[in-house]
Amino acid sequence: MSDLVAVFDTTLRDGEQAAGTRLGSRDKLTVARQLARLNVDVIEAGYPASSPDDFEAVRQISREIQGPIVCALSRAVPSDIEACGAALDKAARPRIHTGIGASDIHIMGKFRDERYGRTLEEKRARILQLGVDAVKLAKRYTNDVQFYAEDAGRADTAYLFVMLEAVIDAGATVVNIPDTTGYAVPEQFGNLIRGIRENVPNIAKAVISVHCHDDLGLAVANALAGIRNGARQVEGTINGVGERAGNAAIEEVVMALRTRADYFGVRTNIDAREFHRTSRLVADSLGMAVPANKAVIGANAFSHSSGIHVDGFLKDRETYEIMRPEDVGFDESRVVLTARTGRHGLSDRLAKLGYELSKEELDQTYQRFLAVADKKQEVFDEDLIAILHDELHPVAETYQLEYMHVYSGTSAIPTATVRLRIGEETREGAAIGDGPVDAVYKSITAVTNTKVKLLRYDIRAVTSGTEAIGEVTVQLEMAGKRTVGRGASTDVIEASAKAYVDGLNKLAGAG
Ligand SMILES: [Zn+2]
Repeated sequence: MSDLVAVFDTTLRDGEQAAGTRLGSRDKLTVARQLARLNVDVIEAGYPASSPDDFEAVRQISREIQGPIVCALSRAVPSDIEACGAALDKAARPRIHTGIGASDIHIMGKFRDERYGRTLEEKRARILQLGVDAVKLAKRYTNDVQFYAEDAGRADTAYLFVMLEAVIDAGATVVNIPDTTGYAVPEQFGNLIRGIRENVPNIAKAVISVHCHDDLGLAVANALAGIRNGARQVEGTINGVGERAGNAAIEEVVMALRTRADYFGVRTNIDAREFHRTSRLVADSLGMAVPANKAVIGANAFSHSSGIHVDGFLKDRETYEIMRPEDVGFDESRVVLTARTGRHGLSDRLAKLGYELSKEELDQTYQRFLAVADKKQEVFDEDLIAILHDELHPVAETYQLEYMHVYSGTSAIPTATVRLRIGEETREGAAIGDGPVDAVYKSITAVTNTKVKLLRYDIRAVTSGTEAIGEVTVQLEMAGKRTVGRGASTDVIEASAKAYVDGLNKLAGAG
């Protein structure tokens, strides 16, 4: 068996699905370029049948990205597969990923209609045929067809084996065994993969892929158990983003395989030095921050604080460090720009971070950069990303924050006054709240007369020190529509107000 494990990235599909925000094609393309630099083997770019935007994003990515295979997702439905075929028609290396529910729970729950049969046996036979037909149809568009047996983690294994044999006969070149609900435990999931290898007669004609969810915190462990038992493709996302508790984090899987090559005896094509950069780009694009204690790419992943550890570390780093920060690209991140950095230096740095700007965008960004560099002396990558967000994502400004005053303190009732420009009008209002941010939000709500639910509020110091830029991300919901608003400022209350207004503008713009 080959010692190469292919890495299948689904950040742009499974990850985006969960983020509560849709990435535009430009953001998707930026992330895809960075995934190509990371050297993943497959980029799952989207689900073309889900929306015209997603179709367009897959189309653009498949036109531009040359190295990795570009994959599109579909259900076992002809119109879905046709949409994949059309979206991928200019791809250098297209793959269609289609499939159907394999567990009895899925079969009985999702295919209730009598046309799928009355008994479980009838339904199973019908579902299997739909899967085979889907693979055959996908084969008309590309030779590279991946089949997913949804909820395989809970499926009846005898039925699963028969289904896999049939789809491989129909031409599937990769069979994906997803633990859709994150129900599996490592030993059992590893046995399932081994069982597939031992019981599906034509399995040598296909690669086994594993797609694990993290509902019990076992996604990475399950994926590794799958690899240990013969899976040669692993699916996952950067930072482990994904439906519910997320997917297997690619950076963790890859670094485990690498650091414990003695145990696993396999390798990947990944350029691990790109992990840190990729992680930040994804966190930033999706508005989902990485916890400081996150394995491999968290801010504290390589910091040693206990006295004994620090002492040991200083004597010999191997005492407490099994990976080096530079292995995953941490050293790169300490490049600091100053007001003396020229336009060229800035554009170099931005390119390294994965951003490609037009001349006009670079000009505007440079002006903003100079203003920040004046205030802060040292400009970190995180500052640049915060600046870029404002520049690259112009949102129609239905609401503009003109003025804000907040009165708060340990013995005062927090009170906020805001003035907003709404079209031609200027409106002013005040409110008290449980804290300064609450007061600001209540006053904005009163002034704009909007009914918005605040679903999430995250604040993060994007750099260290008290003069650091604070970045606030809010998730808002209005009339069933969700969006993510962002704001950055050295004043966290102002950043909070900006994020809220940004979200309101996006909701207004969405019509
Ligand atoms: Zn998934």
